[in-house]
Amino acid sequence: MNSSILIIDDSPTLRQEIIDILQRTSLFTFYFEAGDGIEGFKMVLNKRVDVILCDLEMPGMDGFKFLSMMGTREELQDVPVIMLTGREDQDAKVRGLEQGASDYVTKPFDPAELVARVKVQLKIKSLQDSLKKSNELLLKLSNTDPLTQLFNRRFLTEALDRELTRSTRTNTPLALIMLDIDHFKKVNDTYGHQRGDLVLKRVANVLHAGLREYDIAARFGGEEFAIILPGTTLDQASEAAERIRLGCADISFTDELASLSLTVSLGVAAFPHSSIRHIDDLIREADYALYRAKRSGRNRVSLLGDTPHRTP
Ligand code: GH3
Ligand code: MG
Ligand code: MG
Ligand code: MG
Repeated sequence: MNSSILIIDDSPTLRQEIIDILQRTSLFTFYFEAGDGIEGFKMVLNKRVDVILCDLEMPGMDGFKFLSMMGTREELQDVPVIMLTGREDQDAKVRGLEQGASDYVTKPFDPAELVARVKVQLKIKSLQDSLKKSNELLLKLSNTDPLTQLFNRRFLTEALDRELTRSTRTNTPLALIMLDIDHFKKVNDTYGHQRGDLVLKRVANVLHAGLREYDIAARFGGEEFAIILPGTTLDQASEAAERIRLGCADISFTDELASLSLTVSLGVAAFPHSSIRHIDDLIREADYALYRAKRSGRNRVSLLGDTPHRTP
């Protein structure tokens, strides 16, 4: 791991002394230096810093002010600050710890103690970093459909809830598209379940590639997908659905699947609408529209409010 330390002290000699001591260990790859709190604060905002050593008494912005600036930034809460204090300065140590410092080293310092205290903080920081990473990974896994890497149904319903609330508050439209692969059972029956899985992935890619950054595509279940389009009217969503329909029809398969001509059916609903109050209403209306697309021949887009075509 390429760890880095920032040393904030108004004395360049002391900074160099600290660097010399730490360089005898192989704890750090990068050493950053600053002459006062403000220079140090600018540095933590711009560099990835794992541990900070900070003098308390400095002209310009002192160590206390530096600690309180660190306290204002959420993303800096995990970066440990070790204070450099005078041996007798009991009040300053206590005040510094209360303001968020993790530890202190008294000046003049013993090199072995300095290294030991820095090591402890670096270890804690690295444990916190890996914990954060595994939490992020867990969160991603719990929101993701493993086969298609799209969001899963649980994430979609939560997102839809948030978007509907936002849409109501800001008086902006919100559209939902439901997509179902046509005769997918036949794909499985003809080519096998594994190739069926591949087809699901390819459809997911079409959705992923064709959407704006703030649209949310999810696997709703089986061979059914859902797409949330914030700030989008029924007409606009209908165009998006048509693009997706054509995108899916354009997928070219190789090998055994080469002869497959894949089509999908889509249903589109949008808020605001007199029959939509809750997300369940939006899902139900998009589902009804999808059902009408299926009923009237598949490989098409149906909208909320469309009347079903009668098949002769
Ligand atoms: P329709 O045009 O009316 O939608 O017909 P369909 O055959 O697509 O619909 P049906 O609901 O009868 O079949 C859906 C099929 O999707 C049945 C099921 O085995 C298959 N399926 C569901 N999930 C998966 C999956 O994860 N992988 C594969 N390969 N198939 C799946
Ligand atoms: Mg000083
Ligand atoms: Mg189907
Ligand atoms: Mg289905």
